[in-house]
Amino acid sequence: MLDIQKIRADFPILSRTVNGKPLVYFDNGATSQKPQIVIDAISKYYQEINANIHRGVHTLSQLATDAYEISRGKIQNHINAKFAHEVIFTSGTTHGINLVTNGFASIVKPGDEVLVSALEHHSNIVPWQMLCEKTGATLKVIPMNENGELIMDEYDKLLSDKTKIVTVNHISNALGTVNPVKYMIDKAHEFGAAILIDGAQAVPHLKPDVQALDCDFYVFSGHKMCGPTGVGILYGKEAWLNKLPPYQGGGEMIKEVSFEKTTYADLPHKFEAGTPDIAGGIVLGTAVDYLNSVGFDNIQQQELELLEYATKRLLEIEGLKIYGTAKEKTSVVSFNIEGIHPYDIGTIVDKLGIAVRTGHHCAQPIMTFFDIPGTIRASFSFYNTKEEIDLMIEALKKAQMMLS
Ligand SMILES: *Cc1c(COP(=O)(O)O)cnc(C)c1O
Repeated sequence: MLDIQKIRADFPILSRTVNGKPLVYFDNGATSQKPQIVIDAISKYYQEINANIHRGVHTLSQLATDAYEISRGKIQNHINAKFAHEVIFTSGTTHGINLVTNGFASIVKPGDEVLVSALEHHSNIVPWQMLCEKTGATLKVIPMNENGELIMDEYDKLLSDKTKIVTVNHISNALGTVNPVKYMIDKAHEFGAAILIDGAQAVPHLKPDVQALDCDFYVFSGHKMCGPTGVGILYGKEAWLNKLPPYQGGGEMIKEVSFEKTTYADLPHKFEAGTPDIAGGIVLGTAVDYLNSVGFDNIQQQELELLEYATKRLLEIEGLKIYGTAKEKTSVVSFNIEGIHPYDIGTIVDKLGIAVRTGHHCAQPIMTFFDIPGTIRASFSFYNTKEEIDLMIEALKKAQMMLS
């Protein structure tokens, strides 16, 4: 079992107050808080080894390059990639997806099909629409049911020889649904289609094994897993990354440049044009170490308890409806209270120190499905407690009284 008070002490922000009340941070789905060890690692980089990487022969450049590549190796181990060069540093999930869709523009032809799930974040919808517009391919949507689960029978029917690539999130940011990605990956491969998994919401809760999953691409952001903003990862199978053209041209991604012809660098540098977020890349490794030191079994156990407790207590509130009741769910609860706009509730509970998300959660098609403008979303991390959930329930009851 986790010593939660000890864990909480690792996160300095958790002891601050907001509007005169102790902060209750339940917006972990948008970004997680950072432990002191991560905050310290950022300043340590700038204080001790700041230099540009892969360029200079001088000592600092060497130290910075080593630290950056050590971090890549840590992430390789963490997600069990076969090669370190299959791990591409990006600026985040959005960048990773755009890198892949841009590459597929040279592969996808008119008449081909791209399958997107109904549960996606806008950043895993819009780039695929842009790809289809550019290439004349057709976007097809894998539908979901009332519980917020993707319908696998319908997925099976949509797959065909026309399917070039499938994209789905591992865990939904809006509803918390854990999708059956292993099944979906194997099915896509039966039809010769590639598959991208958006792991942005999964990596804070679990350790993905990209070889066991056998996915072609897996993308995530650092900032939702206790790391800094501005850095993320695109994992791609070596063969796919070799096949895709570079996304951006510039320094670092070339072998030789002349005005007649430029040749590209090998992986991973082919996809890493320009000076990256060096500190971010290094510190992402620190964040991964931190999460592993807490332990993903412990993280999951704590978060599951919070999910069960919050679900039970929320349903005590009259007129409260939870959206997303999938059998496989992570620690996210999306809900509305009858007759009250989610934004009004969010505003009142914020006055009481409670940070929840209100709105469409960058997933408007899901809101359209349920015919609602948005929801209130409480997303829990392993550093949250049942006492904090009690505070949220009190605040919600107060808001309900004031607004109805
Ligand atoms: C947050 C999120 C994204 C976008 O991540 P960025 O860090 O904003 O690029 C994409 N997909 C899902 C499921 C997310 O939760």
